[in-house]
Amino acid sequence: MKLNTKGIIFVISAPSGTGKTTICERLLKSLPDLKMSISHTTRKPRTGERDGVDYYFIDKTKFKEMISNNDFIEWAEVYGNFYGTSKKVINELLNSGNDILLDIDTQGAKNIKKIYPESVLIFMLPPSIEELKRRLSKRKEKSNIIKSRLDRVVDEIIQYEFYDYLLINDNLEKALNEIMCIIFAERLKINRINKKFINNFLKKI
Ligand code: 5GP
Repeated sequence: MKLNTKGIIFVISAPSGTGKTTICERLLKSLPDLKMSISHTTRKPRTGERDGVDYYFIDKTKFKEMISNNDFIEWAEVYGNFYGTSKKVINELLNSGNDILLDIDTQGAKNIKKIYPESVLIFMLPPSIEELKRRLSKRKEKSNIIKSRLDRVVDEIIQYEFYDYLLINDNLEKALNEIMCIIFAERLKINRINKKFINNFLKKI
């Protein structure tokens, strides 16, 4: 039985290389009523990435058209590519009664909080800068891309104060467990509980 009727928006941000994608995949597997918001991007798909699953891959012209049609709740330029959260995607997920998971950057997270003050922002840190460098250089990407990602890390980390929760991914199972605890606790918050449920509960006395 669900005590809250409105879907909750959970945002996860982390510097790239922190293990966010793995965490999100594991969360979605474990929690069937948590659905991923699939963003639109102008970035080219990486090996193994699928359109409509990892992202909706579109070109710049289409992205600009979507901006002028006001189709995005938020959008941002990250590493020279555009990324955006579509209003349609979010509304469909919210209407289906599910909770939503967004993997977006700090600019996007701040905008989501402005529009949905009840959303929950989670910031994840890598165990250390050395480990982050190691994880990033393992990726099959050009060295200038890796460098620009590292340059951005500091800018992203100093945004942590806008978030509701901060955790360190020094152990996948531990980090996963911590995020699950956040999700379960948020689902039971009094201000999210549907009052009708309590009233109906009391009527039966
Ligand atoms: P990547 O190219 O590695 O998949 O993602 C690069 C960055 O873009 C990540 O920090 C990711 O969280 C962010 N991102 C992905 N989708 C969106 C989106 O819809 N909006 C915003 N603001 N950032 C996004």
